This record gives sequence, structure tokens and C-alpha cells, in this order.
Amino acid sequence: IEAQLRQAQKMDAIGRLAGGVAHDFNNILTALVGYSEILRTLVPEGPAKTYLDAMMDGSQRAAALCRQLLILSRRHAVLPQVLDLNRVVQDMQKLLGRLITENIVLETSLADETLSIRADATQIEQVILNLVVNARDAMPNGGLLGISTRRIQIPDADTPPMIGLADGDYVEVAVRDNGTGMSAEVQSKLFEPFFTTKSEGKGTGLGLATCYNIIQQNRGQILVGSELGQGTTVRFFLPLVPEAPPSRHPFVDGGGGPTG
Ligand code: ADP
Repeated sequence: IEAQLRQAQKMDAIGRLAGGVAHDFNNILTALVGYSEILRTLVPEGPAKTYLDAMMDGSQRAAALCRQLLILSRRHAVLPQVLDLNRVVQDMQKLLGRLITENIVLETSLADETLSIRADATQIEQVILNLVVNARDAMPNGGLLGISTRRIQIPDADTPPMIGLADGDYVEVAVRDNGTGMSAEVQSKLFEPFFTTKSEGKGTGLGLATCYNIIQQNRGQILVGSELGQGTTVRFFLPLVPEAPPSRHPFVDGGGGPTG
């Protein structure tokens, strides 16, 4: 309980501090990325283009960091909708395929029933993305990255009793890797904002804190099981809702073109 309180206070402080800064920064970066993209079409192949690419890469990383801070600070618009979780995972396959390295095999196994949840699609994507990036980073020499979905009833024999999760029907997403795994010490600090073991520039320490926040906001729970040298499984649970998701996406903000 005390740890949870500490966590909540920390998140609150970070939220207030970071929210405003991240918001302004995000606008600045959007302009930077936009103009860099235009510039890129004008610059011939050569060293200038290489430098430009490095600049764009940096700006995009910074923009991603801002987005995570905005999620943490709850300063961005959240649009909860009834979604099929399977569809969310399915729609991310291409992106995830590009994200992992060549030596990693991505194995997706979806429940063969609709898994309706009520949540903001972008937030759920963010959670899955963060978990997949962590799994990838834990397997520098390659391995198996599994993503699976299923319906689960709490209480569940294979799931420890979870504080704050009412009995009922839930959906579960599990992301597993057979990478480095984590020591007990690392496991105890996982969800702390800015806790990272990754080298500078690679990790922000905000990935799991963001996941934790999003899942809490949606009355869910997130559990980590890890064994040093064996690998890690992160499972998150969200309440199943009785409504059926719309058969098509009603609209997509940003007006994604044919390539999305
Ligand atoms: P970041 O990825 O930026 O370091 P996170 O909050 O996502 O921030 O993760 C915090 C730390 O937890 C990581 O630096 C890493 O040490 C550990 N970690 C998270 N996921 C995994 C995983 N799947 N396998 C091994 N270690 C992990």
C-alpha cells in the first residue's frame, strides 16, 4: 500500500511538471519533424542527407518521449470506445514486424472470439508497443516474442489474487520473451517512472510507468513474471464489456490515407 501511495504521489508530481513542458515541446517537435521531412525531399543523396536523417531520427525519438509524458500527465484527449482487442493487436502486426529485429520471431495467437473492451485505442496500442519494445530489447541475440490474447475469468486458478481487480470477466494480453529476464531487484522497481537499465539514449524509464498508468485508468491490472536468463512474461487485464464493437472503425482521426 505504501509503495502504491509513493508511486501515485510521484506520478502526480511528474504529471504536473511534465504535462505543460511536454505539450509545448510536442508542438515544437511537430514543426521540426515536418520541415525536416520537406527538406529531405530537396536534399540530394550524400552526407547532408545522412545528417538530416540523424536529426529526424532524434526528433522522432523526442516526439515519442513527449507523447509518453503526455499520457503520464493525462493531458491528452482520451477517447474511450468499444474495441475488439483482437483487432487492435491484429492492426498492429505490420508496425510490430518493423519494430523487431531480424533475429526475433514474432508469434501472435489471438482468442477466436471477439474481446470487447472499452478503452482508447491509441492508449492500448501504446501499452502493447512499449511491452514489445521491452521484449525486443531483452533479446539482443534474438529469440521468440509471443503475443497472445484470451478471455479470462477472475478469480483464476493460474493468476494470483490481484488487489484492486473485482471478480468478473476480463481480457488478457500476454507479451512473452525468452530474453535476459530480470533480477528481483529490477522487478521491484519496474514501474517507477525513470527507472531504466538501458544505456543512455535507448531507455527513458517511462515505458512501464506509462503502461501501468494506462491500465490503471482503465480499471485493469498488469503483472510481470520474470526469471533471470529465462525470459519475461508481462500480462495485462482489462474488463470485458458486453457491447459488441462496431463492425468498422467509425472514423480514424488524422484521416489516415491508404497506407495509414
Ligand atoms: P525503458 O524501456 O525505457 O528502460 P521501462 O519502464 O519500459 O523503461 O522498463 C524499465 C526497465 O525494466 C528496463 O530498463 C529493463 O531493465 C526492465 N525490463 C522491462 N521489460 C523487460 C523485459 N521484457 N525483459 C527484461 N527486462 C525488462
